[in-house]
Amino acid sequence: LDRLAVRTHRLKPGKDRPHAGTDWRTASRAAQQPPRWLGVLGLLVTLGTLALGGVVLLDARHDAWRQAEQASSNLVLALERDITRTVATYDLSLQGTADAMHLPGIGTISPELRHSALFDRAATAEYLGSLLVLDSAGEIVADSTAVTPHRLNLADRDYFTVHRDQTDAGLYVSRPFRSRLRGGDASIAISRRLSNADGSFVGVVVGTLRLAYFEELFGRLDVGVRGSITLVSKDGYIVARHPSLGDALAKDISGSETARRILLAQTGQFTAHSAVDGVERLFSYRGIGDLPLAVNVAMSVDGIYREWWRKAIMTGGLLLMLSGATLTLCLLFRREMLRRLNAEQALMASAGHLQVMASTDPLTGLANRRAFGERLGEAWQDAARARAPLSLLMLDADCFKAFNDAYGHPAGDTVLQAIARCIGGSLRRPRDLGARFGGEEFTVLLPGLDSAGALAVAERIRSAVLALDIVHRGGPAGLVSVSIGVAAVFPQSGDVAGLLVQDADAALYRAKHAGRNRVAVAGPDSRRAAA
Ligand code: GH3
Ligand code: MG
Ligand code: MG
Repeated sequence: LDRLAVRTHRLKPGKDRPHAGTDWRTASRAAQQPPRWLGVLGLLVTLGTLALGGVVLLDARHDAWRQAEQASSNLVLALERDITRTVATYDLSLQGTADAMHLPGIGTISPELRHSALFDRAATAEYLGSLLVLDSAGEIVADSTAVTPHRLNLADRDYFTVHRDQTDAGLYVSRPFRSRLRGGDASIAISRRLSNADGSFVGVVVGTLRLAYFEELFGRLDVGVRGSITLVSKDGYIVARHPSLGDALAKDISGSETARRILLAQTGQFTAHSAVDGVERLFSYRGIGDLPLAVNVAMSVDGIYREWWRKAIMTGGLLLMLSGATLTLCLLFRREMLRRLNAEQALMASAGHLQVMASTDPLTGLANRRAFGERLGEAWQDAARARAPLSLLMLDADCFKAFNDAYGHPAGDTVLQAIARCIGGSLRRPRDLGARFGGEEFTVLLPGLDSAGALAVAERIRSAVLALDIVHRGGPAGLVSVSIGVAAVFPQSGDVAGLLVQDADAALYRAKHAGRNRVAVAGPDSRRAAA
């Protein structure tokens, strides 16, 4: 509405007055466009919302990863403690039995006494198998589960050969095997060498540990979707794994990149594709004390991000919808604005058109008498303020009644249009105004011109009309001609502008009486004439 008010104001009478030489009726405005910032703002808000959402989601993704790293390294630490404690407890049992083997007379006492002497310090638990003493030939000589040991030779087991061949094997952890005594349970053995005082080989004390122990321990922990926990030997084979690999025992992964990295350091974390099933996982591993074992928790990358993805899809979808809504609103707002601007422009155009029509003479296209009156008042005030001269011409077609009578009224109209063109063509400055005063009379307002300047303009118009070369037998020159009265003045604010018209009219009257087709200037007697 404000824009409308401003436009209307600009078109108020006295400002964009038409003047001869300018066809204000065809003036048009450039097509209106909604402000560019509207689109830019909409785009910025949308992009800003999306960027903010992106940053928040990325941050949440990093958080999910950090939490997984933290959780898995806590898990391997707890597992390492648990396994170390179990093995240490079992080792104490082995050492107790080994110590008892050195008791004097142990070989000569009754089997019952000997059994309790050897194994009374032995720990028992569901996952612990039998504790055996083997002699230097690998024969079982004592069994924690039977007073009379089974007759069985275990000289082919790795724990026997290692201790037989090496004096310093210490606590040895065997490769997984199926127990020959306990119905084929998958087990590992931990063992120590029995030596004489001189270091010679006496035999081996060995305890079995069922792999079910590890599988139960691992199974109690939650490592997410497609996660796994593995106990790996430093030789690069799998001792135990959850989820289980089935019946396969000691699957060899020593050639894999994953195993190589797990065995490289005592503890660490990395991301890689699993050697077992190819799934990409975050691996956290830790060596088990001094033992040749490492425990490894692997969380699948998909599992780590699963919850995040759910949130990201929800939040992202919502953000996209919001952004779409913002953009749509902006577009709708822009379209509505465009519609209103166009409506406003159409209104302006018709208002302008009405304004032009109200101040234009329809036959000649010059300003009409009303517009001339308004402009004369303003020009008078302007000239009085600026102490500048103001001139006025009064034109009258000569013997025009006779022309009409001889050639017809329509021909007369055409001549009036031609005279109007002569007037328009003779005016040079934007503030000059030619108007149709009425009938075959015209007037020209010349702000800033003194009588000499006005006389020159009048003479230009008169010659131009004569040069039209329109035959008018009843006219003074045999051609269409005009008589012009010129008046010039330095207006004073108290004077009435209408007096200038009277002076010009009087001069015109003199031009007519002097024979027509000529210019007469108002006499110096008239009000402070501008000579
Ligand atoms: P003078 O030289 O003394 O001015 O003689 P005149 O015949 O022009 O003067 P008069 O005032 O007696 O006549 C004016 C004529 O102008 C009367 C009329 O027929 C003619 N006239 C006035 N308005 C129009 C018009 O719009 N169209 C035409 N064709 N003629 C007009
Ligand atoms: Mg007349
Ligand atoms: Mg006349």
